[in-house]
Amino acid sequence: TTTTVAFIGLGHMGGPMAANLVRAGYRVLGHDLVESCLAAAVESGVERAKSATEAASVADVVITMLPAGRHVLSLYGPEGLLEAARPGTLFVDCSTIDVADSRAAHAAAAATGHRSLDAPVSGGVVGAEAGTLTFMAGGEEAAFAEAEPLLSVMGKKAVHCGAGGAGQAAKICNNMILGVSMIAVSEAFVLAESLGLSDQALYDVASAASGQCWALTVNCPVPGPVPTSPANRDYRPGFAAPLMAKDLGLAANALRAGGIDAELGLRAAELYARFAEGAGADQDFSGIVRAIRAASNT
Ligand code: NAD
Repeated sequence: TTTTVAFIGLGHMGGPMAANLVRAGYRVLGHDLVESCLAAAVESGVERAKSATEAASVADVVITMLPAGRHVLSLYGPEGLLEAARPGTLFVDCSTIDVADSRAAHAAAAATGHRSLDAPVSGGVVGAEAGTLTFMAGGEEAAFAEAEPLLSVMGKKAVHCGAGGAGQAAKICNNMILGVSMIAVSEAFVLAESLGLSDQALYDVASAASGQCWALTVNCPVPGPVPTSPANRDYRPGFAAPLMAKDLGLAANALRAGGIDAELGLRAAELYARFAEGAGADQDFSGIVRAIRAASNT
């Protein structure tokens, strides 16, 4: 029998992810509050559900791809998806949300007799469309095993990171490394420029030395050294600064909750929040090099 999937949240990411499930032969019942998102999904073969709960009531697997933890918890709450679903339904939340909210979502699913997985992604809209996302999953091994065939349709890699919330934890820890390292690389380029060192010379040395990192060698924040980096197309994303600001905000919440002395992670969250609200609103996160340059007295 065909697996029936309820897909709630058919936005930039959820729309193409649901379309890939349809292409792979799954029956997908979709819902989104925004009619244009729902209509686009229906175009790609998703069946229109009257409501999220109606979709969940007939599904084997319920996938959510929503903006934030409050959306997930409200849909999992009273008179929501968990109550509507048949006992033992598998809930897979692919949204990027607070670790604490994710753990609460797992607890709510367990309390209503369901199984659950948090499975946030990296790879962006391009990866969602191409089916090449990376999933970072948290939850019981059996839940991960059951979700794996669907994840392998929507992505190219799925890592089981541990118990409920571990996927979210992996996502924010990785992106904290990325945010901090992008700022460090950007500051180094601005310092180099002020010392009369060319961008290319710094790149040639650091990319072959201990400063080497993804922020330098793949997403290089200055134009020239890496022709495919967003800096060469006026910082068109790529990985948009507001999404980095969001993820660093989630990391900052977890840092504070855990009492972690992470000065750079917290500072990166502040710098990206400011950048994303201003010039960075529609730029790749590597555009922060321009904010650093602009704020410098060189
Ligand atoms: P989006 O805003 O485009 O899509 C979210 C959708 O959820 C919207 O269409 C919205 O109408 C819908 N929605 C909200 N509440 C709902 C409800 N109660 N019922 C039904 N639908 C509801 O966001 P997105 O870019 O698709 O991102 C989704 C998640 O994936 C976010 O958590 C984001 O952080 C994460 N993410 C995004 C990217 C990216 O590049 N866009 C990359 C990795 C992770």
